[in-house]
Amino acid sequence: MRKERGLLIVLSGPSGVGKGTVRKELFSKAGTNYEYSISMTTRAPRAGEVDGVDYFFKSREEFEALIEEGGLLEHAEFVGNYYGTPLAYVNETLDAGRDVFLEIEVQGAAQIREKAPEALFIFLAPPSISELQSRLVGRGTETEEIITKRIATAREELEMMSLYDYVVENDEIQNACDKINAIIVAEHCRRERV
Ligand code: 5GP
Repeated sequence: MRKERGLLIVLSGPSGVGKGTVRKELFSKAGTNYEYSISMTTRAPRAGEVDGVDYFFKSREEFEALIEEGGLLEHAEFVGNYYGTPLAYVNETLDAGRDVFLEIEVQGAAQIREKAPEALFIFLAPPSISELQSRLVGRGTETEEIITKRIATAREELEMMSLYDYVVENDEIQNACDKINAIIVAEHCRRERV
C-alpha cells in the first residue's frame, strides 16, 4: 500500500462536553498512533496548566501577529479569548505520514472543513444540555457568568452536529475513547485501499 499523508483528525463539540478529558485519556495510553497538536490561546492558564503542554499561552498582540502572518490553520474567538491551531506543526506532521489530532471548538472545525475537507470530523455530544451544565458547574473552574455564556454557546454548537462525519456521545469516557479509536482505524481502512 502507498504511504499516505497523515490523517487530520478533528474532535469537536460543545465546551464542557468532556473533549479535553477524552483527549487526555486517548493520549495517556501507550501506542497512540496520532500526534496531539497543542493549541495557542490568549486565555490565562488554569491552576496546573503548563505552557507548551496544555496550550501555548500568548498575549493578544502575539496571537494577532500570528493571524497576520498566516501562522494558524484555524482560529476562533471563544468566550472572549482567542484559540488557534499552529499551521506549521500540522503540515510537517501530516507530511511525515503521521496523523494529527485536534481538539477544538466548532467555529474552528468549520474553518478546517473549508480548508481541509479531507479531514476526519468527529463530534463529541453530551447526553443532554442539563448534563453539560452540571459538568461545567462541577468542574468549578469558571464563574457563573462564564458558565451561562458557555451554555448559550453550547446550544448553538449542538446545531452544527449534522456537519460531522461521526457523532460520539460522551456517556462514559472509556466508551467514547473506544469509539473514537475504532472510527480512526475504520477511516484508515476505508481510505487506504490500493
Ligand atoms: P478551554 O478554555 O476550556 O481550554 O477551551 C475552550 C474551548 O476552546 C474548548 O471547546 C476547546 O476545545 C477549544 N479549543 C482549544 N484549542 C483550540 C484551537 O486551537 N482552536 C479552536 N478553534 N478551539 C480550540
